[in-house]
Amino acid sequence: MESGFHGSDLDSSLKCKLEESGMANTHAIMEKAVNWFRSRSIFVVAYGTGCGAIEMPPTFTSRYDAERMGVVGVATPRQADLIILSGYLAYKTLRRVIRTYEQMQRPKYVITLGSCPINGGMYWDSYNTIKKLDDYIPVDVYVTGCMPRPESVIEGFVLLQERIKNGEKAGWQKYDENLKFYKDNQKRVLGGHIDPSYETDWYNLENGGVA
Ligand code: SF4
Repeated sequence: MESGFHGSDLDSSLKCKLEESGMANTHAIMEKAVNWFRSRSIFVVAYGTGCGAIEMPPTFTSRYDAERMGVVGVATPRQADLIILSGYLAYKTLRRVIRTYEQMQRPKYVITLGSCPINGGMYWDSYNTIKKLDDYIPVDVYVTGCMPRPESVIEGFVLLQERIKNGEKAGWQKYDENLKFYKDNQKRVLGGHIDPSYETDWYNLENGGVA
């Protein structure tokens, strides 16, 4: 199982220093602590799509109060750890979702609500709605139901928190490892006209950014 506590130069240099000084156990303890803190401080970008968006206000306000679990809303993707895709996605919405997801900094997570992001739901034969979100961006937790109640959304938060706490491999790592698969699928439905351009490899800028 891969650790969730990695991915930055700071983390790897800290790990090397601790290992050099024979403090590998210290790193393991810190890793557990960081994963626990990370699981209890999840910032969710304000983004609503599909019918399930209407479940967000009660989830985040006084009745269900997601903040007591450390899950709070933020206005911009660059500050966010989590995006909740709360229902069906038209291709034109998918374009914005990809852009938003790519603006979020790692580690980052995706929760979806309802059957539409799994298999298209009641839009399975629509000409302009995607069938399987995981072909375009990686999904960490699916919350099923049409539409799921706030209790189910909160259960989704608990599942995600457990996965982060346990250091399980996350969707953003899968996205980086299988970037070609995701980019090919994105191009297939959106064409090359997206900003940032598909012609630029944003993960390989030091080599000229040639995809
Ligand atoms: S799963 Fe149901 S409630 Fe959710 S977006 Fe689809 S049709 Fe709407």
